Amino acid sequence: MSDAQQFRTDDDRWERIVELTAGAANTCLDCDVCEVMCPWSNWEKAGPDLPTMLRNAQLGEVPDSGSDKSLWGCCTCASCEATCPKGIKVTDVLLGLRGLAFEDGRAPTRLSGLLKSLQETGNPQGHPAADKMKWAKDLDLPPMHEERGCLVYFGAAACYDLRLQRVNQALESVLRAINLDFGVLDDEPDSGAVVRFLGEQAYLERLIDTNLEMFKEFGVREIVAVSPYDYDMFMRIYPRFGDSFRVFHITEYLDQLIQFDRLAFSHQGETRRVLYHDPCYLGRHHGVYDPPRRVLQAMPGLELVEFAQSHEDSPCCGGGGARMFMNENPGECFSDERVQEAKDLGVDMIVTPCPSCIQMFEESLANKFIEGIEVRGVIELAATWSPYSPSEQDDTVYGTQGTA
Ligand code: SF4
Ligand code: SF4
Repeated sequence: MSDAQQFRTDDDRWERIVELTAGAANTCLDCDVCEVMCPWSNWEKAGPDLPTMLRNAQLGEVPDSGSDKSLWGCCTCASCEATCPKGIKVTDVLLGLRGLAFEDGRAPTRLSGLLKSLQETGNPQGHPAADKMKWAKDLDLPPMHEERGCLVYFGAAACYDLRLQRVNQALESVLRAINLDFGVLDDEPDSGAVVRFLGEQAYLERLIDTNLEMFKEFGVREIVAVSPYDYDMFMRIYPRFGDSFRVFHITEYLDQLIQFDRLAFSHQGETRRVLYHDPCYLGRHHGVYDPPRRVLQAMPGLELVEFAQSHEDSPCCGGGGARMFMNENPGECFSDERVQEAKDLGVDMIVTPCPSCIQMFEESLANKFIEGIEVRGVIELAATWSPYSPSEQDDTVYGTQGTA
């Protein structure tokens, strides 16, 4: 019997952890680098004990407490992964362990409710599924079909939230302004991002299989996602389950439209100083740093300003990993520090392409009573910056015919 086997508390359990975490914990050196990089360490001066959690995962143990910060406080920002000398996908371990905690009935009650809502209604807040596209009832959105090929995917967060519906409406107006052909699904399914954050693997697999069938039926060859979380699902998780398609985040898509002379801006207003925030699921998880900045730089009269920590060093807003739904304590939010910095820099706006970041920043501005700073989505700015198409190819379907 090897030393490792002697210390395992339960072999079946250990095998289940290895299965759920894809064995990601096994090479951990217990070096503490991940813990130092975790935003919770900076925030609370005593961060999560990640090395202990990883060591316990090697031995077949899941943290005991349903409120354990290492497990449920993780916003899946990947700061730890970016510096781990062994390249360990710490978030895969954490999400796998969350799945086991669910199986054991030790997940926080609030999250069990989220999962139930997702299973019953297809969205974490439990809104009626039939209401999902209500925000678009006057817009006459083009239905998806085989000849369109390019699906614009809005996502549950932006469809049910009154503030975020403005992002969707802005996107529709930009695509219309440049006469771009695209399709939408009347019955848009949930991508599974929140289910994945909760670690519920069996339900996630069923959901993805069903969605892939639906996309096939509608002839989807490209997906343009509004939320970085959905982008991550379609880009990184769906290909593990079957057919893949080309995936763009909306800022990558707009950036390419600008490169191909299909989109330009002609705004004549005052110069605005805007601070760009990199969302974790575009930046660190996918390396998409430049496209959103190029879209902003294409807007005349817009001065782009950077946070002291940006690109790969950009801290999480605090909303990832389903933390959006767990922020019980106002003021316990990483975005508070970001909005304070924005105030100190004297900018007019914080701009970000992530619906969750928009919500978190607006909440922090309100909590800290900071006035005079707007929070806007990149798409919202694009819609107000007088978008137009400089080229003549009005009816070309972008992506399937227009780019390599
Ligand atoms: S940085 Fe990587 S190797 Fe070091 S303790 Fe964290 S997970 Fe383990
Ligand atoms: S993903 Fe982010 S929040 Fe989660 S453990 Fe790593 S550094 Fe901490």
